Amino acid sequence: MTRENCPTACPCCRSSCSRRWWATIAPFIRAYAFEANNKAELVTSLIECVKCGHRYYQRSYNTEELNRLYAQYRGKNYFKSRRKWEPWYSRRLNEATMKPRLVTNRRSAVKAFVAPWLGSRSTALIVADVGGDAGQLIPLEIASRAYVVETSKQKAVEGVTRVDRLSEIDQKVDLVMCCHVLEHLSDPASLLSSIIKELELADGCLLYLEVPLERWRILPGMGSSLYKQYLIWISRSVPLLVLVDFLSMAFRSFFGFVSPPGFIKMHEHVNYFTESSLVSLCELVDLSVLEYKVERGSDLATHQGIIRLICRRTGDH
Ligand SMILES: [Zn+2]
Repeated sequence: MTRENCPTACPCCRSSCSRRWWATIAPFIRAYAFEANNKAELVTSLIECVKCGHRYYQRSYNTEELNRLYAQYRGKNYFKSRRKWEPWYSRRLNEATMKPRLVTNRRSAVKAFVAPWLGSRSTALIVADVGGDAGQLIPLEIASRAYVVETSKQKAVEGVTRVDRLSEIDQKVDLVMCCHVLEHLSDPASLLSSIIKELELADGCLLYLEVPLERWRILPGMGSSLYKQYLIWISRSVPLLVLVDFLSMAFRSFFGFVSPPGFIKMHEHVNYFTESSLVSLCELVDLSVLEYKVERGSDLATHQGIIRLICRRTGDH
């Protein structure tokens, strides 16, 4: 049974929601991102908006928590802390997402999706990738200048210039990319609003968004108070928690569902988008959606596919 009638507004369409289940807060997140007095928080709710299908957690990250989590992202301390709670997580596992073939395929897919919307400018664009790590997903064939907007000290790949803020770019940007960022933010609308504001999203500037598709089935029983008590109990035993966490993850990855005695875990991703919720998010900040596409199937076990979307400021042509 799921619980109903929560008062929280959906971050994408702002409607009130109607379904929720209990979820654990990853012990790694509690230890690494939360302040000392919040480390005792064990459970939260996963909420599903009935209007757009978006899933998100009731517990949101504040700015300090986001800074702690991402300032030294995947640095030495990050790995050390994470492996304590998730012994299967390794640099090798992380590097699997950065294999050259995989990155080349992902970059080609971005280019193929945006190409029909580029018109005559298709090879000399000013491109900016917000939160784009080293800028490895920017298709350089379409760019005369390419920037990655990153607050981390990640070194940019060849051909890409790293800047701290979009406003540092003193040229008219033609294409903004934002890939695999929105799912990390408790308020994704505020990032899109700041992109629009900071860039004064010039006439004709296109915005390309990419988020993972993570849509596992949730089997009955995870909304009951009894199940909440079970989660609190299991959260107090490290070996048991680690074991059930591993099994939950395996079931989710291979069979696409989560069920008691397994659990849903709030980790770095705090939004699980549907195509409808991503479109709603754009409309919320006054962006006009030109095209979107759901691609099922993934080279990574962590998600089931990708949602791509291209949009521009409402009123632009
Ligand atoms: Zn919604």
